[in-house]
Amino acid sequence: MSLKRLQLTLAIFKPDITAQPHIIKEVRSMLLQHKFYFIRSKELRLSRQRAEEFYQEHKGKFFLNRLVSFMSSGPLSAHILARDNAVQEWRRLMGPTKVLRTIHEDADSIRGMYGLTDTRNCTHGSDSPESAAKEIAFFFPEFSIDHWYREDESCYREGKVFYDNDTGMHMLQR
Ligand code: ADP
Ligand code: MG
Repeated sequence: MSLKRLQLTLAIFKPDITAQPHIIKEVRSMLLQHKFYFIRSKELRLSRQRAEEFYQEHKGKFFLNRLVSFMSSGPLSAHILARDNAVQEWRRLMGPTKVLRTIHEDADSIRGMYGLTDTRNCTHGSDSPESAAKEIAFFFPEFSIDHWYREDESCYREGKVFYDNDTGMHMLQR
């Protein structure tokens, strides 16, 4: 049993892969195989305005308009994931941002296997614990990170949970 407390991160399955159920299935199975816990999940659509808000750090970049159009073009799903070192480990599974390079340089990553273009690159992952907290609040305003650490974190860390196929989330065994 690990004594190190689990970290939370935010994952998004972007519209390019939500249109491809077999890819979603594969990504989920990679996450489970790498011992991530699905804490909360929701399916939603983003308006242009909300997508702009989510990506405000990229204001002024040449790809922002393309990115916002893409992210508001179809359904997506957002997931709170937990694991030891979740932020870094989820980004490692995803692979680097730029698909056209990643296809060659990190071919076994999610973006390397399934990415279509530098914009349509399958998934999002928070880039630090601080952005994870902000991004979790953006998609899951009803979720309290403090409460989760107080009440639930140790159960996940000790493995007292099971994966529920119906909801696609891990549930506490109590
Ligand atoms: P990441 O998603 O890996 O954290 P960034 O935060 O830098 O990458 O960019 C956000 C998203 O904007 C990327 O995932 C991708 O969809 C898009 N994007 C980033 N850089 C480019 C680029 N050079 N050309 C096209 N789209 C890009
Ligand atoms: Mg980023």
